[in-house]
Amino acid sequence: MPRRGTQPVNADAIDALLPQTQCTRCGYSGCRPYAEAIAAGEAAINQCPPGGAATIEALARLTGLPALPLNPTNGVEQARKVAFILEEHCIGCTKCLPACPVDAIIGASKRMHTVIVAECTGCELCIAPCPVDCIVLVADSAADGAPRGPIEASEAAHFRQRHAAHITRAERRRADQVAKIETRREALRQQSGADTLAEVIARARARRASGNPL
Ligand code: SF4
Ligand code: SF4
Ligand code: SF4
Repeated sequence: MPRRGTQPVNADAIDALLPQTQCTRCGYSGCRPYAEAIAAGEAAINQCPPGGAATIEALARLTGLPALPLNPTNGVEQARKVAFILEEHCIGCTKCLPACPVDAIIGASKRMHTVIVAECTGCELCIAPCPVDCIVLVADSAADGAPRGPIEASEAAHFRQRHAAHITRAERRRADQVAKIETRREALRQQSGADTLAEVIARARARRASGNPL
């Protein structure tokens, strides 16, 4: 477990140094799980390509661990990019929406989708789910056309907040779906007088087998 002086370094302090793209290239499901793995002494500090050398150095200063070169199996450090949807090819399938960890894509079913460039971290997680390959990465440039520099702490904090909001929304959607299924089940139970869904299915099968589906 990494320590600062006599104190163990906690995951909050480590997470504060990560870029918060949630890209999963470090081998974890997001920045926070990677921070927790470092805090637990289970992960090296050189696994994050979007953070690159600057993040490794910051983590080395925080944890007292050596600043190793970036693990090349996770990818290479590169200029920032953002996603761009070739809108004329978009079929509005919505598959990219849940894939985006910071909800940077807007669009409705069967309608063209668009990336909110200012909110895009360039994580690339929307690219694989698109069935028509209409999402591409382009250089992320400032207003003067110059490439944007590394993700700064204030941007990372903003991305962290958007990711937390994304998780909250996804959990709410899941809870709504579960509640809808339960409501349907209950209606079915009341309709049939049966106690369980299995019983409803068994009765329906028995009716079919007897040749009297009603
Ligand atoms: S930004 Fe770095 S720490 Fe965060 S998920 Fe991507 S590779 Fe992992
Ligand atoms: S739009 Fe795509 S590349 Fe940009 S943050 Fe969302 S998933 Fe990542
Ligand atoms: S996954 Fe591709 S085709 Fe589907 S809505 Fe997103 S951009 Fe459009």
